[in-house]
Amino acid sequence: MQPAPSPLSADETLQANQRLSRWREDLQDTVLAVAVPTGSVLAAIGTAVSWFKQDGAMALSNVAALAFLLWLRHHRGLGTRTKGAGIVLITTGMGLSFLFNDIGAFSLPWLCAAPIMAALLLGRSAALTVTALIGLVAFPLGYGLDLPLAPLPLLPHPELMWTLLALNYLTLSIIIAMSAAVLLRRLAMAIDRATRSEHVMAQLAHVDPLTGLPNRRALRETLQKRAGQAGWAGALMFIDLDNFKDINDTFGHLKGDELLVRVARRLSTQVPQPSLVARMGGDEFVVLFQADPEPSAPLSDQAMKKAEQLRQAMTKPFALPDQQSVSTRISIGMTLLPAGLQSPEDAMREADTALYQAKGNGRNQVVIFEEAMHTALHQRMLLANDLTHALRHTGLWVAVQTQVDAAHRPVGAELLVRWSHPERGNIPPGQFIGMAEHSGLIVPLGEWMLNQACELALRLQATGHRFPLSVNISAQQFRQPGFEQQVQNILASHGVPPQALMLEITESLTMTDKGETIDSMARLVDKGFRFSMDDFGTGYSSLSYLKRLPLHELKIDRSFVDDLPHDANDVAIVRMILAMADNLGLKAVAEGVETQAQADFLVAHDCHSMQGYLFSRPQAVDAWLAALPASPVRHPAPHAGVTPV
Ligand code: C2E
Ligand code: MG
Ligand code: MG
Repeated sequence: MQPAPSPLSADETLQANQRLSRWREDLQDTVLAVAVPTGSVLAAIGTAVSWFKQDGAMALSNVAALAFLLWLRHHRGLGTRTKGAGIVLITTGMGLSFLFNDIGAFSLPWLCAAPIMAALLLGRSAALTVTALIGLVAFPLGYGLDLPLAPLPLLPHPELMWTLLALNYLTLSIIIAMSAAVLLRRLAMAIDRATRSEHVMAQLAHVDPLTGLPNRRALRETLQKRAGQAGWAGALMFIDLDNFKDINDTFGHLKGDELLVRVARRLSTQVPQPSLVARMGGDEFVVLFQADPEPSAPLSDQAMKKAEQLRQAMTKPFALPDQQSVSTRISIGMTLLPAGLQSPEDAMREADTALYQAKGNGRNQVVIFEEAMHTALHQRMLLANDLTHALRHTGLWVAVQTQVDAAHRPVGAELLVRWSHPERGNIPPGQFIGMAEHSGLIVPLGEWMLNQACELALRLQATGHRFPLSVNISAQQFRQPGFEQQVQNILASHGVPPQALMLEITESLTMTDKGETIDSMARLVDKGFRFSMDDFGTGYSSLSYLKRLPLHELKIDRSFVDDLPHDANDVAIVRMILAMADNLGLKAVAEGVETQAQADFLVAHDCHSMQGYLFSRPQAVDAWLAALPASPVRHPAPHAGVTPV
């Protein structure tokens, strides 16, 4: 799908021509640089001889030739062709001057050199013209005027000798002129080819090979150009496909590429020149929107109208080959550039920040950059620094929330991270887990939580209670290389069996790299670990896929429990999830149970366990352990034949 290279632009053709004439200029300079000193010596000798012979005209022609040569060499305003013609003229002139001054033998090398000079400096036609002029005019004239040449002893007749001389001259000159012309044509072709390949390379370096759109580098260069352009106004829009990863995973990378090509085409039709559409890579596109130079509406209105138009245009399904139709949505982050671009870097950072916000706000929308977003970004960076510090200096602690069965007996508990910030007080995980995932801090945080879970599992075991402790495992943590080994090492270092924990994952993990995720989970299950699908129902797992995941438990998301038992939709959804869990042989846990009515509904529909404020709030470890009922309950073996710890 490589875009065909475009023909050479007028600029590039001009460049190729300029290269050839630069080559000729070099040649001329060399000829003149050598001709001036050697010509001076010759002229000096010639003048002296002419003086001695009392031949004033000859002396004058020598001086005139030298002066002309010097003028050619030092006159800067002369064009390449004029200079070339000058050199040819002086060479021919010298030859003729010798011929007509009765020293014919001297004239021959000059007359031979003239066509060669013409071929090299002016081209084939000039060479042939000079050859014809000299061969067909000078020699007959020589004959007619009976100029004295050294007579050839074998040829007593002067006409025969002159004819032979002219033929020799013509043959030799034509051969030399043609050879030089071929050499020159080859050189011109080589220069043209070099220009062409430079052109293709420059194109490749500036074009995205998949879509044929300008790439990141081309965009950056255009931004640089606009930065210096007075009176330019517009907007920079960063565009991201909302569900591209899912599309790639579901339909495969080839179809994903097809979609990108179609998105590029649709964007291009929506954004006519002089605005620009570029692809930054992956599913990221950029539009550099140029505002109307005679604005009928404020810049923000014009740009917003265009961005909304783009967003709308993308909502129409894309037809892929094989009659497949795919729907996608886009998020747009935009920064306005009312008085050109002060700095392309700033503009790109601003548009990117706005895009981040658009995605954070729930995607499929347009967000215009505001200064406050930078502040928010800055705050997030500060928070990340503080979290790094907290991880090292015990600023984090663990809260535990019990899960109960229908008889309100504890059958599980979830560990939830807590952060006591020295200045900002308690920061709920909702405010820093996302940041931790973004910054990669979730990896050490998750490792710390697993260690805490192991310590608690040992203390729990000591009380005689035997139920698993649930630990939230973020997708980033699960996907980091070596996670499987790390989790086993941590448990082994504490002497805790895998059955003591329940690893809570979310649907987002299972949406990407499906095969690898399933394999990795299966290996851990083989070692005795168990998995729970957290916040179930909020993702987009297909049922057929769910069946392939080696799960032990589904946690019904709190949003479905909130309006039970009044909301008919939630009732239907929860009943369906419970039925599905039953069919798949999975345990079901309902999250966020706050009212007795919710609990009654869940128990009536055979929900295995419940978690929520109705039974217990998350508590610090010591308080939670102290609040556990004194005599542990012996449970029947949980689902799927897992041995309780
Ligand atoms: P989650 O895993 O779904 O945890 C359940 C959340 O619901 C907890 O919020 C819990 O305090 C809250 N909750 C429990 N019962 C009720 C209830 O009856 N009513 C209401 N309104 N809320 C209830 P929390 O502790 O704020 O945690 C929020 C989310 O942060 C968690 O959702 C989880 O996704 C994440 N999280 C917490 N700790 C960790 C952790 O150690 N690692 C990772 N990766 N994520 C964590
Ligand atoms: Mg959870
Ligand atoms: Mg949850």
